[in-house]
Amino acid sequence: MEVFGGLETGGTTWCAIVGSGPGDVRNSVEFAIGDPSETIERAIAFFAAHDLAAVGVGSFGPVGRSADSPHWGHITTTPKPGWAYVDLAGPIGTALGVPVGFDTDVNAAALGEHRWGAAQDVDTFCYVTVGTGIGGGVMVGGLLLGGAMHPEIGHQSVVRDVAADPFAGSCPYHGDCWEGLASAPSLTARWGCTPDQLPDDHVAWEIEAQHLARGLANLVYVLSPQRIVLGGGVMRRAGLHARVREKLAVIINDYVPFGAPGTELDTFVCPPGLGARSGSLGALALGQAAYAAAAP
Ligand code: ZN
Repeated sequence: MEVFGGLETGGTTWCAIVGSGPGDVRNSVEFAIGDPSETIERAIAFFAAHDLAAVGVGSFGPVGRSADSPHWGHITTTPKPGWAYVDLAGPIGTALGVPVGFDTDVNAAALGEHRWGAAQDVDTFCYVTVGTGIGGGVMVGGLLLGGAMHPEIGHQSVVRDVAADPFAGSCPYHGDCWEGLASAPSLTARWGCTPDQLPDDHVAWEIEAQHLARGLANLVYVLSPQRIVLGGGVMRRAGLHARVREKLAVIINDYVPFGAPGTELDTFVCPPGLGARSGSLGALALGQAAYAAAAP
C-alpha cells in the first residue's frame, strides 16, 4: 500500500502526518512555526524518514492554489512577518522527489471531511473553523472552490446589534468582520481573557453563538450547502454547536430547508468527523490526489 504525507501549516503550529488514512496514521509530529526556511526544513526532515509516494500541503493563507499561477504552492500576501510569498510546495517536492498537492488549510480540511469524516454523503458543503481566525473551505459538486483566489469567508460582514454589543472588532483589515467579532483573539480582546477562561454561563457565549449563526446564515443563502461542518478550538466549548443551531433556525425562519429535504438541523451543522485531524488528514488526501494525477 502506498504511504503519503500530509502537512497542515497553521499560522502558529504545523502538523505533519504519514500514512494512508485515518485508520492508518503511522507517524505524526507537531511543532511551532519559526522562520520559514527552518520550519520547512523541519517538515522535510520528518517526511524524509519515510518512503512516501506523494505529499499534500494545506496551508494558512492567502495562498496560490491555481495550477497556472506563478505563485502556485506559495503563501502569498500574508501579513505574518517573513512569510509573504514563501514557496512551500516547491522546496518540499524538490527535497523529497515526489508529487505535491497543495491548497488552503481549510479546503484541505473540507477534503478530509468529505473523504473520511462528517461530509462523506454530500458533495456541496462548507467546512468552517473558529479558532485563531475564522476560515472556511468550500466544496461544490465534489470540487474544492478556488476561483480568483479562494473563499475568505471569515472576512464576510455579519449583521449585529451594535447597541447590545459595541465591541469594534479585532480584524486589522475590517474591524467587525466575522473573524473580527467571533475568532478566539476577538473574544480575548472583547472580554479580557482567553475563551477557555470564560465560564459556560457567561454572556459572551450568547453573543458568540449569535455572531456565528449570522455568518452561517449568509453561507446558507449564498452557497446552498448540504451541510456545514463546524470545528476549531472555540467550537470545543460544550453546547456551543446547539446554541448556534438554535439561533440559525431563528434567523433563517423556515425560509429555506437545512440541507437536503428531511435533514435535521443537528446533522446540518455538525462537528468535524475527524476531530482535530481534518486538516492534516485532508492534506494527506491532497497528496493522494496529486499522486493519482501524476500517474501515467
Ligand atoms: Zn476581516
